[in-house]
Amino acid sequence: MGVTTAPPSPTPVFRPGTSPARLDFSSGIFEYAAAPESVRPGIADAYGLFIGGAFVDAQGGKRFATINPATDETLSEVAEASAKDVDRAVAAARDALPAWSALPGLERGKFMFRIARRIQERARELAVLETMDGGKPIKESRDVDIPLAAAHFFYHAGWADKLAYAFPGADPKPVGVCGQIIPWNFPLLMAAWKIAPALACGNTVVLKPAETTPLTALRLAEICAEVGLPAGVVNIITGAGETGAALVNHPGVDKIAFTGSTDVGKRIAKAVAGTDKALTLELGGKSANIIFEDASIDQAVEGIIEGIYFNQGHVCCAGSRLFVQESIADRVIAKLRDRLGTLRVGDPLDKNTDLGAINSPAQLDTIQRFLKLGRDEGATLHEVNGSALPDRGNWCRPSFFTGVQPSHAIARDEIFGPVLAVMTFRTPEEAIVRANNTPYGLAAGVWTDKGSKIFEVASKLDAGVVWLNTYNKFDPTSPFGGFKESGFGREGGRHGLRAYVRL
Ligand code: NAP
Ligand code: MG
Repeated sequence: MGVTTAPPSPTPVFRPGTSPARLDFSSGIFEYAAAPESVRPGIADAYGLFIGGAFVDAQGGKRFATINPATDETLSEVAEASAKDVDRAVAAARDALPAWSALPGLERGKFMFRIARRIQERARELAVLETMDGGKPIKESRDVDIPLAAAHFFYHAGWADKLAYAFPGADPKPVGVCGQIIPWNFPLLMAAWKIAPALACGNTVVLKPAETTPLTALRLAEICAEVGLPAGVVNIITGAGETGAALVNHPGVDKIAFTGSTDVGKRIAKAVAGTDKALTLELGGKSANIIFEDASIDQAVEGIIEGIYFNQGHVCCAGSRLFVQESIADRVIAKLRDRLGTLRVGDPLDKNTDLGAINSPAQLDTIQRFLKLGRDEGATLHEVNGSALPDRGNWCRPSFFTGVQPSHAIARDEIFGPVLAVMTFRTPEEAIVRANNTPYGLAAGVWTDKGSKIFEVASKLDAGVVWLNTYNKFDPTSPFGGFKESGFGREGGRHGLRAYVRL
């Protein structure tokens, strides 16, 4: 044949205990040196409320501490807004509304482009702050949260002068003063999801960040002031659940946009019922990740990891119920075990860290309660990650359950932690029925090599987002939102603008 081939080189054998080159992570060969992020953003001892374009003290001067969940240290004290402060903030938003809504869309868009660029310019500081205040790994805040927050402002800045094209034949008008309440899992990103479409459509805003993660929203307030956004267009008030409730019940608010738990969402829906306030709710989830036997298994295992262990499982659309086709279940579970063993849990400011700190002691308690409940109900817990955990802070190693019955709490309830319930199925029909057997409907994942199966299955899943051969990917152009108890209304994309206009 005229072609000489080199003799085959011996294939390395990675068999435990037989070869010096085996994949032994305890040997230190694959240990990374610590790579701590060196930037430390300046954090003031105390922050006020951002009302009418300036930072002001809360009336009565009440404050609460925000903690770094990886070290238990107090980062700062922030003002606790009372009902009177909510009143001031709503009044400031009301005063700013006529001028802001009358501004040509092109001009509103310019302010938003400036906010987006300033987020990019201050990205490193914002990423470190997000990680310190909330516990998420720096590689996620740096590569996901902050870039996406900027992208949301860029995207919606583009819509500000094109609303007539978004709603052809209609005359879109702003809704008015928007009260917006957000959770702690993606603090700056959730603020961007809420504020950007509201401003694009000519509304003004009073936003309440979560109690445990107020700091990046307060930086966003600084950025609004820096770019010269007219006073009162964005107001940011920190506080606890009562502050949120006061905002919901305030008669001067025209629209409530809430992201958080289904329980609080239901309470808000009741409070708003019978008023003329508009309402959108982005609530909890128990999303299904479905792996068919024809899927690329290695890719799917990465998708499982991305789906549930990303951000310590503090993700509303986490793929927390895994459905694996029975024929490949053993292989998938074996690979999942191996991969889980390699995840690094620890200092969120280390660039090698995969899972950071659990956001609060209360959330850690919830997760541990479910770990116990799952075992008590008879499922088998696989704790295969051996990361050495820091002495202080809130930590939970990633784990998964097998032997899970659909009736088990770990298969039904949102855990909001790095815990996966693994179940099997035989036919696509069974996978669809079981995936839909939940009061939630936020997201789902489908892994298969067959295009026809992708579209067939995706079209039958009751979920606001269905990812195909990927998971937990977000884009400002793509609408996000739930079915059933996961809420109503969409955020992002042209659909997301609908909640911020009257037609
Ligand atoms: P949460 O307890 O419902 O809190 C969310 C926000 O509401 C916080 O700012 C909270 O303030 C405030 N709040 C609490 N009680 C309130 C009340 N009675 N009236 C008005 N506001 C009130 O939820 P969380 O534990 O922070 O977040 C986790 C939940 O959010 C999960 O269920 C997750 O699925 C969901 N989530 C959904 C999406 C989505 O897009 N669908 C996105 C992210 C998260 P405090 O912080 O002071 O309690
Ligand atoms: Mg904090």
